Amino acid sequence: MTSSPKKRIVILGGSFGGLNAAYELRRLLPKETREIILVSKDERFVYIPSLPWVAMGHQTLEQISFPLAKPLAAQGLEFLHGEVLRVEPEASKVHLEGRTLDYDYLVIATGHRSANEAVPGLGPFDGPGHSLMSPPEAQEARESWKRFIEAPGPVVVGCAPGASCIGPAYEFAFEIDHELKKRRMRHKVPITFVTPEPFLGHFGVGGMGKARQFLEGEFEHRDIRYLTSAAVSRITEQSVELADGKSFESRYALIIPPLAGVRAVAQSPGLANPKGFVPVDEGFRHKSFPNVYVVGVAVAYPPVETTPVPVNFPKTGHMTEQMAKAAAHNIAADIRGGGRLERPPFVECIMDMGDTAAHMLADPVRPPRNRVEMSQGRRWLWAKRLFAPYYLWKMKTGRSWLA
Ligand SMILES: Cc1cc2nc3c(=O)[nH]c(=O)nc-3n(C[C@H](O)[C@H](O)[C@H](O)COP(=O)(O)OP(=O)(O)OC[C@H]3O[C@@H](n4cnc5c(N)ncnc54)[C@H](O)[C@@H]3O)c2cc1C
Repeated sequence: MTSSPKKRIVILGGSFGGLNAAYELRRLLPKETREIILVSKDERFVYIPSLPWVAMGHQTLEQISFPLAKPLAAQGLEFLHGEVLRVEPEASKVHLEGRTLDYDYLVIATGHRSANEAVPGLGPFDGPGHSLMSPPEAQEARESWKRFIEAPGPVVVGCAPGASCIGPAYEFAFEIDHELKKRRMRHKVPITFVTPEPFLGHFGVGGMGKARQFLEGEFEHRDIRYLTSAAVSRITEQSVELADGKSFESRYALIIPPLAGVRAVAQSPGLANPKGFVPVDEGFRHKSFPNVYVVGVAVAYPPVETTPVPVNFPKTGHMTEQMAKAAAHNIAADIRGGGRLERPPFVECIMDMGDTAAHMLADPVRPPRNRVEMSQGRRWLWAKRLFAPYYLWKMKTGRSWLA
C-alpha cells in the first residue's frame, strides 16, 4: 500500500482489459484522488480480432495497432513498458525486472499464454502447426500461407482439446474458402475442420440459438468437411492426427491451442488456479485479496458443461471490456463509496465468413439466457470492417460515440 493520500492503481496489461480499465478509472475518480500506472510488456495496443485479416494479407500489424505511450500520457495516465515477473498480493507489490511497484489496487489484465505443450506439434514456434493467438503468430501464418498458395494441398483448421477461443478457427476456415475461390484454387484444397465442440457452434458456451444449424449448413454448402468431438493429438508437417487414430493429410494446419494464464500470474503465490487463471467474484474482485481485480482472459471461468472432449469457456474482447468497466466501477466504489456492479457479461460478436458475416448475441453468455440473436448478411461484414478502425480510435483517444 502507498502512504500518499492518492490511491495508486496499478494495471497489468495494455490490451482490451487494461486500457478500458484505465480509461474508466480516469473517468470515475477525480485526478487528485488517484495515480494510475499501466504496465505492459508490449509497447503497442493491437486490435487482436483483426489478426485473421493479417494472416490473410488483408491488413498489416501496423494498420491494426498503435503505440501506447503517447495516448496514455495525453490522458494523464502513466505508462510503464516492462514485463511483470511476479505479484506479491500479501504485500500489495508488483515485481518487474529491476523495479518493484507498491499498489493500493491492482487490476490484472494479462490475457493468456498459449499452452502449446498440451498437443505435440502445436505451433508455430513450438511445432509445425500455425496459430492466430498473437501478432507474431498471425504474421507467421501469413508468410506460411503465401508459400502454401504456391504449392497447395489439403488444409486442416480447428481447435485442440480444451480450447476456448474457438470463433477465430471458424473465421479462418471461411476466409480461406473464400480466398481460394477468388483465386480459382478451391478445387485443389480439401478443407477439414476439426473441433472438440460436441456440435458446431457450441463455442464453449453451450451453443447460441440456431448457430449449430447455420454452421452445419454453411460448411456443407461450402464443402468443408467437419468433425466434432475431435481430440487433436499430434500435428506434423504432413498430417493432423486424432486421439481415436484418425489422421488427416495436411499441407497447412491451423489449430487453435488451449490457453493458460501468463507465467507471471501463474507463479504468484495464492493468486491463480493451477492453469494460471484467477478466480474472481461477480464484481471481478479476487476471492482472497480484496484490493486485486482481474478482467478478461486472465479470469478463471469453469466450462459451461462437461463434454466428451473438453471445451473451455471463451472470454471475448467485448466481454473483457464489460469486465474492465465493472472492475473500475467497483474500485471507484471501494474508494469513494457507492453500489457495486455485479452483472454477468453478455456476448456480441460478428464472425467474418469471407463473402458475408454472421452476427451473434447471447445475454448472458452462460445459459439459460434472456436473449439470443443471430443473423447473417453482407451488412455485418461492413459492420465488422468499420468497427475495427473505430475501436482503434476509441482506444487511442479514450473516447466513444457508441454505448
Ligand atoms: C484471432 C482472434 C480473434 C478474436 N476475435 C474477437 C472478436 O471478433 N470479438 C471479440 O470480442 N473478441 C475477439 N477475440 C478475443 C479478444 O481478442 C480477447 O478477448 C482480448 O484480447 C482479451 O483481452 P485481455 O486484455 O484480457 O488480454 P490480451 O489481449 O491478451 O492482452 C494482454 C496484455 O497483457 C500484457 N501482458 C501479458 N503478460 C504480461 C507481463 N508478464 N507483464 C506485463 N504485461 C503483460 C500484454 O502485453 C497485453 O498488453 C479474438 C481473439 C483472437 C486471438
